Amino acid sequence: MNQQLVDNFGRQISYLRLAITDRCNLRCQYCMPAHGIDIVNRNELLTYKEMYRITRVLSELGVNKVRLTGGEPFVRKDFMSFLEMLDFNDLLDEINITTNGVLISKHLEQIENLKVKSINLSLDSLNREKFKTITRRDQFDKVDEALDLLENSKLNLKLNVVVQSGINTNEIIDFVELTKHRNIAVRFIEEMPFNGTGQKQTDEVWNYNKILSEINGGFTSIEKLIDKKSSTSINFKVDNYKGTFGIIPAFTRTICSDCNRIRITATGMFKNCLFDDGVFNIRKFMRGGASNDELKDLFLKLVARKPKDGFVAEVNRSSDVSESMSTIGG
Ligand code: SAM
Ligand code: SF4
Repeated sequence: MNQQLVDNFGRQISYLRLAITDRCNLRCQYCMPAHGIDIVNRNELLTYKEMYRITRVLSELGVNKVRLTGGEPFVRKDFMSFLEMLDFNDLLDEINITTNGVLISKHLEQIENLKVKSINLSLDSLNREKFKTITRRDQFDKVDEALDLLENSKLNLKLNVVVQSGINTNEIIDFVELTKHRNIAVRFIEEMPFNGTGQKQTDEVWNYNKILSEINGGFTSIEKLIDKKSSTSINFKVDNYKGTFGIIPAFTRTICSDCNRIRITATGMFKNCLFDDGVFNIRKFMRGGASNDELKDLFLKLVARKPKDGFVAEVNRSSDVSESMSTIGG
């Protein structure tokens, strides 16, 4: 058997999250400041060829699933051509995309013909005005259209909702109610301080337990589902509802023991954990002339050092958590 990416805790890495760009067409309050982030020069972004090469090398080491994220993947020029290119990698079983949905609709047919299995659509409010306040852009109709089209497509649809104290917590029940007649997996994400400025002060902490207790208060019969191995969400279903809901304990980090993921940022920083501050610049290594064998050796060594959990990763950082999710690749 080929060499596989296994860390010192025996976790096998099979899932890459790759940030296509640090740019975005929205300005979500929990992700970046109103003026946006300091985007990097174009030549500091990985090229599509570099992304393809990284993915190919990783897939030869056992990565069989890639999630494309950002920033907003669809704002980068020629993203669809890159998707077609990635589809050629016969070692990949699954390509998934996380998007805000503003630009996806016209590409859906093409996407359905590739090995894209699932789209995570981010939507934090069902109310147009509130959506505008959260994202600081008036694009609700486009996202709503994408939601309808995705629901009726061959693709699995997951709806990502970042739970923001005092902003959209009164819509948690409405989001679960969406799953009554619609085959959607709604996933509530604990808000993290990755917003370009750092930890916010809030009156209430909306963690996994509080989100679940809010939902329990609204429904009489909720069933716990069996989660897939390495699932990022803990999943449930309201009895007799068509869709499901889940909670992603992104901040309380209770799912790390089963983690199968690594990340590459848009500038080519390798991350073993969402909470580390980037452990190696792959872009510089490749541009310095590294061969594929050297890349493989590097990945094997880096993964071996994956921290036990997100708390250890955070302690090892050189600065506090404050960078934007858009630069990390959420
Ligand atoms: N632009 C795309 C989107 O919004 O879906 C992809 C990138 S975005 C950074 C990926 C995911 O991270 C989205 O679901 C977003 O809601 C989530 N996210 C961003 N900032 C976050 C934060 N501070 N805490 C929790 N989730 C966050
Ligand atoms: Fe853009 Fe996604 Fe961040 Fe919102 S969460 S600002 S859509 S990258």
